[in-house]
Amino acid sequence: MVRAVVGANWGDEGKGKITDMLGETSDIIVRFQGGANAGHTIVNNYGKFALHTLPSGVFYSHTTSIIGNGVALNIPVLFKEINSIVEKGVPMPKILVSDRAQMVMPYHILFDEYEEERLAGKSFGSTKSGIAPFYSDKYAKIGFQVSELFDEDALKEKIQRVIATKNVLLEHLYHKPLLKAEEVFDTLMEYRKMIAPYVCDVSAYLYQAIKDGKNILLEGQLGSLKDPDHGIYPMVTSSSTLAAYGAIGAGIPPYEIKQIITVCKAYSSAVGAGEFVSEIFGEEADELRRRGGDGGEYGATTGRPRRMGWFDCVASKYGCRIQGTTDVAFTVLDVLGYLDEIPVCVGYEIDGTVTKDFPTTSLLKKAKPVYEVLPGWKSDIRGIRNYEELPENCRNYIEFVEKEIGFPITMISNGPGRQDIIYRNC
Ligand code: GDP
Repeated sequence: MVRAVVGANWGDEGKGKITDMLGETSDIIVRFQGGANAGHTIVNNYGKFALHTLPSGVFYSHTTSIIGNGVALNIPVLFKEINSIVEKGVPMPKILVSDRAQMVMPYHILFDEYEEERLAGKSFGSTKSGIAPFYSDKYAKIGFQVSELFDEDALKEKIQRVIATKNVLLEHLYHKPLLKAEEVFDTLMEYRKMIAPYVCDVSAYLYQAIKDGKNILLEGQLGSLKDPDHGIYPMVTSSSTLAAYGAIGAGIPPYEIKQIITVCKAYSSAVGAGEFVSEIFGEEADELRRRGGDGGEYGATTGRPRRMGWFDCVASKYGCRIQGTTDVAFTVLDVLGYLDEIPVCVGYEIDGTVTKDFPTTSLLKKAKPVYEVLPGWKSDIRGIRNYEELPENCRNYIEFVEKEIGFPITMISNGPGRQDIIYRNC
């Protein structure tokens, strides 16, 4: 069976923890999109890890971890990550990398930096991991697939052709040093050495795995609102964050995805610029940021403080719908235990009219949050394993959100650890 774990919001919903938890009953875990620009934080018996490229399943000895064709593969980052986990005593994970995955080139990272510099204050808040230049090149058909590393003559010829256009931009737009074909080639030969043992025809491998009845978990990065088509364009990421894309980015039939677990955080946070209707500021935001997640809401990749907000039912309902959610995993609920009252955004007021439907970006800019305030539960809910044992106001909060978003909350996460989960039959 194939399951997907994806985000309903702006990312950082706690997908890493849910994937890590579901990894226990998975044979194969696949990353299908994105790159080293976002990260998961995972806490387990080996310690605390920030993963950017490796699937969260690397901590289990029974799982195979796959980098699918949809990923922006940064080979040195992948290797650094493998080494960092092995150093901390995690057994060498079984990793396969799609021969159709494309590689983040060193110049993609440079172009990302140069473009942010050029845009100055009007930047998109890129993490400067080269992701936008990477996907631009992929769709402009001047990207490099892993498979191309193994045909040196064709590779040399293509590098010449591609960097000719890059150098025009470097010289005339960015006024930066030019690329040299030989240096790019040598770097790619280094990459080949690193990646060769792992290269695999992933879609064929997964086809067989599905036939053999294996449990496959697709692991999404970021969330619905960062999807280039359905998110808050242009403040989005460059690859689709939706479960549907899991089929493409892994190379499996769409109808094989039987369960879509959409992770939704019990309050909101976002990194980078972009519309965020239920955002809060000042001391109220600082306190939630300090108490949030596991040790505060700061980016796993960048360390940037995250923007904070109350739970947004409008955005989350949309985020769950666009994912094709079968189950909602409601996370980080324990963090809200300090509040006397908890505002929840239940509508957007746009030009005097209240809507519960998430609009396009131009309307979103005008939206003001409509709040309903629920009573807090004023206690620590960590350690609770049965739904009925949660305080009444906490259950009311969950059930209120569930009704507003219209998708069943079947898992409630009340702590960062694998065991901090409450299953609920809906
Ligand atoms: P992801 O990118 O969606 O995986 O999100 P992050 O890696 O940013 O995860 C959010 C943070 O919340 C991480 O530090 C997790 O360890 C932590 N976390 C996940 N679930 C819970 C939870 O239920 N309670 C608490 N307190 N922290 C959690």
